[in-house]
Amino acid sequence: MIKVCQSCKNEFDADADWKKLCFDCWIESKEKGKVAELEREIFRLNAAIHQWQEVARGNFTLNADDTDRIQRLERRIDQLNTENNSLRMKLMVHKEQATSIPRDMWRRLIQLVHPDKHGNSESANEVTKWLLNNRS
Ligand SMILES: [Zn+2]
Repeated sequence: MIKVCQSCKNEFDADADWKKLCFDCWIESKEKGKVAELEREIFRLNAAIHQWQEVARGNFTLNADDTDRIQRLERRIDQLNTENNSLRMKLMVHKEQATSIPRDMWRRLIQLVHPDKHGNSESANEVTKWLLNNRS
C-alpha cells in the first residue's frame, strides 16, 4: 500500500499497515536513538570523571557516617599504638631478665659445670661454652 511518510512527507510503499516512516526515515530515526543513547552515556562518564577529579583534588566532602567511622578507626589506632608500646616494654624487660644472670651466680655456674669436673664430657663443654657466650 502507498502511504505518506510522517517525517519527509514522501510517498512510500508500506508492506505493513503500522509503518509510518519510509525506509530512509526509519533508518535515520534508529540512528538518532543510538546517538541519543551515546550522548547519555558520555554525560554519565563525564559526571563520573568530574566526581573522581574532585576526590583527587581533595574537595570530596565526607558524609557524617564516614567522619564517624574515621574517628572510630583513629581511636582504635591510638589504642593499638598504646598496647604495642606497652608490649614492647614488657618484652624488653622480659629479655633483660631472661639473659641477665647475676655476676657472682654466673661465676659459680662456670665453676660447677667446668669440664674438668665432669670428665671433660660433651655436655659440660657445651654448657660452659654457652655460659661464656652469654656472659652477663
Ligand atoms: Zn521519509
